[in-house]
Amino acid sequence: MTPKMLRFLEGIAPQNLVRRSYDRGLVRLNDACASCARRIRLVVEDARLIPTEPAGVWHVRGGGCGVNNLFCGQACAENWVAVHPSLRGVERGPVHELWSPGLPGT
Ligand SMILES: [Zn+2]
Repeated sequence: MTPKMLRFLEGIAPQNLVRRSYDRGLVRLNDACASCARRIRLVVEDARLIPTEPAGVWHVRGGGCGVNNLFCGQACAENWVAVHPSLRGVERGPVHELWSPGLPGT
């Protein structure tokens, strides 16, 4: 990183790094499982996750390159992580727990 880039980043107030643009309204995400290409649909309405299609969608995020993938379920997520050894320590789990940690699946 150049000194100019570093000065620019240091000049951004921490509160400006977090956006809350999804707290209201409807957000639709159409994606495909990163392992088997099955269609995945997520809908968030007023910051509340509507039951996913299919049910039980998983996420994997982390890694040095900013991996952030969706999977149709736990099996596909675990299989995908298994063939990417550098990502074995990444965060993963049911997508619904990102909205309601510890609650039963949607
Ligand atoms: Zn899949």
